[in-house]
Amino acid sequence: MKYISTRGHAGQPQNPEFCDILLGGLAPDGGLYLPESYPQVTRAELDGWRGLSYADLAFAILSKFITDIPPSDLEAICRKTYTAEVYCHARAGDERAEITPVHWLEKGADGRGRFGLLELSNGPTLAFKDMAMQLLGNLFEYVLAKRGETINILGATSGDTGSAAEYAMRGKHGVRVFMLSPHGKMSAFQRAQMYSLQDDNIFNIAVTGMFDDAQDIVKAVSNDHAFKAKHRIGAVNSINWARVAAQIVYYFKGYFAATQSNDEQVAFCVPSGNFGNICAGHIARRMGLPVAKLILATNENDVLDEFFRTGVYRPRKAAETHVTSSPSMDISKASNFERFVFDLVGRDPERVAALWAEVDAGRSFDLSGTPEFARIAEFGFVSGASSHADRLATIRKVYEQYGVMVDTHTADGVKVAWERIGEVPTGVPVLVLETALPVKFAETIREALGRDPERPADLEGIERLPQRVEVMAPEVDTIKRFIAERV
Ligand SMILES: *Cc1c(COP(=O)(O)O)cnc(C)c1O
Repeated sequence: MKYISTRGHAGQPQNPEFCDILLGGLAPDGGLYLPESYPQVTRAELDGWRGLSYADLAFAILSKFITDIPPSDLEAICRKTYTAEVYCHARAGDERAEITPVHWLEKGADGRGRFGLLELSNGPTLAFKDMAMQLLGNLFEYVLAKRGETINILGATSGDTGSAAEYAMRGKHGVRVFMLSPHGKMSAFQRAQMYSLQDDNIFNIAVTGMFDDAQDIVKAVSNDHAFKAKHRIGAVNSINWARVAAQIVYYFKGYFAATQSNDEQVAFCVPSGNFGNICAGHIARRMGLPVAKLILATNENDVLDEFFRTGVYRPRKAAETHVTSSPSMDISKASNFERFVFDLVGRDPERVAALWAEVDAGRSFDLSGTPEFARIAEFGFVSGASSHADRLATIRKVYEQYGVMVDTHTADGVKVAWERIGEVPTGVPVLVLETALPVKFAETIREALGRDPERPADLEGIERLPQRVEVMAPEVDTIKRFIAERV
């Protein structure tokens, strides 16, 4: 499988394969990598995959995108990644081996599931980002060892991404992680998750500023090409193709869990920020998975909902971004959205380059009235937005009606799924992707329910563990010096 850039120039080597793009971020032309075509899944394959374990399903699907790792090695990596020991936080004990079990909220008279949660947050950091990041950790270690290279990952986080990256990369040979977080701005639980890691290859840096200050430092360091090359600086942000590829797997797994035969369809509702998660759902659908609808849910930061309703993509200014109680969806522009638009405009890289010339200049684009936007229904997308009041009401309703606590992001999904359910064909089950567990966002759970969220037993008292973090001013030179002294 060869990879191309959404803007037409994938750089050197001429036709990169998976391992060539694994460690990088953007393509050299500023675009995003995608496979040159989406592999098509035959009916016979779908039938054969229905009974597979998560690890074996991951191997079957990823083999179509990763053709430059020997199959036996890729299989070993999938089996090492997707184990019940790593994904151990499912609420019903015997569902552990499923990795991503479905938790039905509504069943029909026939006993079949109608409306449920696809549990994606049973990994070490209790958010769906573990699903892809754990695989990335093992792929990085494998490819670096093969090539005799090392990498120093620099990132900025407001919570979920940083902890998922650290738990994926801890103890991995050839990898160091330098993670910047805004000092005093994350929840006590999120701080404890990250800062209690004692691994030698993990460095937590709390900058005395906001998340944007941390992000600006990462950008400044990445733009210093000499420093970046000398110290082998890399990233694991949400545009990384391997993360999207890994996420395709659970759409198939969820589909099999919700259906009895491959003649049936499923609808997925996805709480969205950077469009990474739902992009994987879009690709699964393009591969031939019978997905009736992809319901996209945003919070008050409704850039994507606006696009699907109107055809206008209007990235917001940083100052216009709302700080909400589903903070992992607080985005001003959706970094993976370019991958979808590439498909929407018939995979025309010149068109995408022209549209993103507008975006990169801080402007918007308008596809309403174009033949492409007229075809948007073919892509199966439906969208909606949610507010803080909606989240509180949804968390309460799900708890009262079903006895299940959902996190704030999942609540945005449930709210929008209920609202748009009329657009899902009758009898098609709806799965809302559970993107985090409630304990990560305890304050809002207390506001909604007047009680503390449930907490997995192995995470009792993590706030009392010793923490390892350096507090620093948000100065590029200070951070560069810190990195240079340790690599
Ligand atoms: C990252 C994240 C999201 C948004 O996912 P995207 O891939 O950016 O759309 C939603 N919910 C939670 C809990 C997250 O951590």
